[in-house]
Amino acid sequence: MTDQTPLVRIDGLSKHFGQTVALDSLTLDIARGEFVTFLGPSGCGKSTTLRILGGFERPTTGRVILDGVDVTNQPPEKRHVNMVFQDYALFPHMTVAQNVSFGLELKGMGKAAISNRLTEILSFLELEAYADRYPVQLSGGQRQRVALARALAPDPALLLLDEPLGALDAKLRGQVQQELKSIQRRTDKTFFFVTHDQEEALTMSDRIVVLNKGRVEQDGTPEQLYFHPASRFVAQFIGETNLLSGRVRGTDGDRIVMDWQGTTLTGTAPASVPDAGQTVTASVRLEKLGFHNERPQTENAVQGRVVGRTFLGSRMAMQIAVGETEEAQLRAYVDADTGRALGGDPVWIGWDADHMAVLND
Ligand code: ATP
Repeated sequence: MTDQTPLVRIDGLSKHFGQTVALDSLTLDIARGEFVTFLGPSGCGKSTTLRILGGFERPTTGRVILDGVDVTNQPPEKRHVNMVFQDYALFPHMTVAQNVSFGLELKGMGKAAISNRLTEILSFLELEAYADRYPVQLSGGQRQRVALARALAPDPALLLLDEPLGALDAKLRGQVQQELKSIQRRTDKTFFFVTHDQEEALTMSDRIVVLNKGRVEQDGTPEQLYFHPASRFVAQFIGETNLLSGRVRGTDGDRIVMDWQGTTLTGTAPASVPDAGQTVTASVRLEKLGFHNERPQTENAVQGRVVGRTFLGSRMAMQIAVGETEEAQLRAYVDADTGRALGGDPVWIGWDADHMAVLND
């Protein structure tokens, strides 16, 4: 039976640096085997959380419970936690094997046990061929894997990764993302990953916690955050979106009916349901808009005119003017052939209510 108790319990954590509130009453659990990503703009408190989990920083208030034990005041070496740094922090004068063995020696492990573990972890990460190389003789991706091998070697309960792919170029980054995710799956380890890169977070995580100014803005699966952002901040921070500002007419079950540019639209309701007459913003993703010659059957439909298009290779970004004054604009993604065929004639744009999230600002 799997252990249902959370591996990590973050309980009311706050961290103040003088007047700066880096973390503000953060409370959440992390399950065993979860790949959880802390995502947010620079200065939102991601690294502070990670450093507190690692024991490199003490919180101003609150507790960290690891495997049922309060570790808030324990130093890093006493915790069953390890870390991969952005710059890998590999020792340049040590070979790959020596780098990976280092932490095991510190733990006081015997020579034979170290040798066994080293063989095991190098083979697991397909690094056997590089055991005698020095970091300078490795590619960026290989160095990253060595850093991961070193961090995983002592078999920590929790692995902290602080923007570990930041030093890689875009192409390699994509490849290493897949690799990292697959390693996490195969080891079944709990990964706490920190990044400001929303695409990276969407690609790898089981769960994303969006932080803003030291507070949790939203906590959910990549799909939940992308298609059902809870706030304007999340809608804009993750992916691209259309933000439609309108006035609430009322509710229809768990949906909100709103007026926008002389049309009635329906979308999913936010956690805190707005009152009739209130001004709200709704978010609809660019790829969820469909083009039609006649009024479509979708719950939401508006008429517009294509006023711009940008070729993006695999798809085309369309700009559509909507409403009597054509002041409002929508952006949409379509495949390049569809995009090219759309001309100056008025066109219908449709989308389902489930694809439009009314937001709490
Ligand atoms: P980045 O993506 O830029 O690393 P972050 O989300 O990881 O940002 P933190 O490093 O956690 O942000 O910092 C949160 C806030 O706390 C910031 O305003 C930062 O300036 C402040 N801060 C962090 N460490 C210290 C410190 N040692 N002394 C003073 N202020 C600090």
